[in-house]
Amino acid sequence: MRKRLALVLLSCALCEAATAQQPGLTVGTATAVAGQTVTGFIEVPAASDVGTKIPLAVIRGPKPGPTLALVAGAHGTEYASIIALEKLIQELNPADISGTVIIVPLVNIASFAQLVPHLNPVDGKNMNRFYPGNPNGTQTERVSWAITKQVVERSDYLIDLHGGDLDESLRPYSYWGPVGNAQQDAVSRAMVLAFGLDTIILSTDRPRDPNAARYLETNASLRGKPSFTAEAGFAGTVQLEDVMALTNGCLNVMRYLKMLPGNAHPVQDPVWIERVASISSESAGVFYPLVKRGWYVQEGMKIGYVTDLFGKTLWEVRAPSGGVVLHICSVPSMKKGDTVANIGVVASRVPE
Ligand SMILES: [Zn+2]
Repeated sequence: MRKRLALVLLSCALCEAATAQQPGLTVGTATAVAGQTVTGFIEVPAASDVGTKIPLAVIRGPKPGPTLALVAGAHGTEYASIIALEKLIQELNPADISGTVIIVPLVNIASFAQLVPHLNPVDGKNMNRFYPGNPNGTQTERVSWAITKQVVERSDYLIDLHGGDLDESLRPYSYWGPVGNAQQDAVSRAMVLAFGLDTIILSTDRPRDPNAARYLETNASLRGKPSFTAEAGFAGTVQLEDVMALTNGCLNVMRYLKMLPGNAHPVQDPVWIERVASISSESAGVFYPLVKRGWYVQEGMKIGYVTDLFGKTLWEVRAPSGGVVLHICSVPSMKKGDTVANIGVVASRVPE
């Protein structure tokens, strides 16, 4: 009898310990306790320029587990990635989850609202180049700082979603950026494979200083959180195929991390890209592509041309390397120095 009482007392103590591991998690104005999806905002006050409110959801499962951050919309017109996270906020059932998911579907509100590609129109800055941010900088820097403090530092893992912008016809791919820590790199590599996109860019040229991380993925990785970037969608379109590639990818990474039941089924034989050859326009004018996203091209092959406003060819675009067309300009508007295309050079061997 006494033994049974002791067992009851012990199991209650364990109950309390389990509860103690699971207090509410607060991000911005959203506090979720176990079993809840709670939405709110990260409020970034005005300073040298206007403030902003970044929407987010905290989805907290009843069982303990890691915290995964899913972020999109640093570029507010890369719509498929934004819609993918809007859907996940609605579709993820907290009851199924072990751990917590922080979803930030749209970082660059002004870009989305004003249809401005690439930049935050408030300060003219790229919202995926200023991490870890600066609490006293312009809006982009203050937002980046708030995301570092509220999202990155509260997470164990992070996925940053992008896609082709309004002027980019892009085929889906992920980036894997190892940081030199074998254990962390093995986890981030497994996350990329679990996500399932069949083309993976090995990025080895990322910053190594956490105080000058530039990219959100690098910002998380250099803070010890396995992280990667995935891209799908193009040229302002929201195609089901692209949205599902991103939502299924996130769900599969959650399975790999044991945050959802089931197996991840990682991609078996992805095409690894060892280098990206970017082509900048040598001429302003009217651009005509001759290849499509995802095509394979040979070095020297003519992949497009730029004419003047009367149709006279000013410049022939030739592939600087053989490889896969990761993205190519999707609109005729062309300024000197604009990116015409990115060619992914296929790796000679599978990176470890
Ligand atoms: Zn982007």
